[in-house]
Amino acid sequence: MTGPVRRQLDASRWQGVDVLAYKQDDRSPFRDVTRQVLFDDPALACQLRYFEVAPGGFTTLERHEHAHAVVVQRGRGRVLVGDRVFDVREHDLVHVPPLTWHQFRAAADAPLGFLCMVNAARDRPQLPTDEDVERLRAMPGIAAFLDEGPPPRG
Ligand code: MN
Repeated sequence: MTGPVRRQLDASRWQGVDVLAYKQDDRSPFRDVTRQVLFDDPALACQLRYFEVAPGGFTTLERHEHAHAVVVQRGRGRVLVGDRVFDVREHDLVHVPPLTWHQFRAAADAPLGFLCMVNAARDRPQLPTDEDVERLRAMPGIAAFLDEGPPPRG
C-alpha cells in the first residue's frame, strides 16, 4: 500500500505510477501516447489520469457518453472539441462534453502532457464513421488539423 504522498520524479513521472499503453483496441488510430492512472479510488466516482503525447503524436479521434475535464500540464499542442480547433498550452483547461468528437495533438516540436478527469464508470469510445470524418473535415480548420504532422505508421 502506498502512502498518501507520491513524489513527482520528473516532468511526467510519479513514484509508484506505471506508464501504460494508451489503448489496447487495435481499431483506434493514435500515435506516441502514454497513459498513467494517478487516482483510481472507489470512494471517488472519477479517475484522474495523465496522458502524454510525444511531439507530432495524437490521441484517437473519438466520442462517448462520458465527459472529460482536462488540465494541460506540460508542453503545447492543439485540440479538436466538437467542430472547433484550439491551441492549448500549459495550465489551460479543456472541457469535453458528452458525445462530442475530440482529439489531442502535440506540437511538432513539443510534447503535450495533460491531466484528464473521467467518470469511473464509463461507456466505450465510439470511432467516427467515414461520413463523420467527412462532415468534420468540412468545418473550418479541421481538415488541416487532422492532416498535420507525419502520417500514421502503417
Ligand atoms: Mn475520450
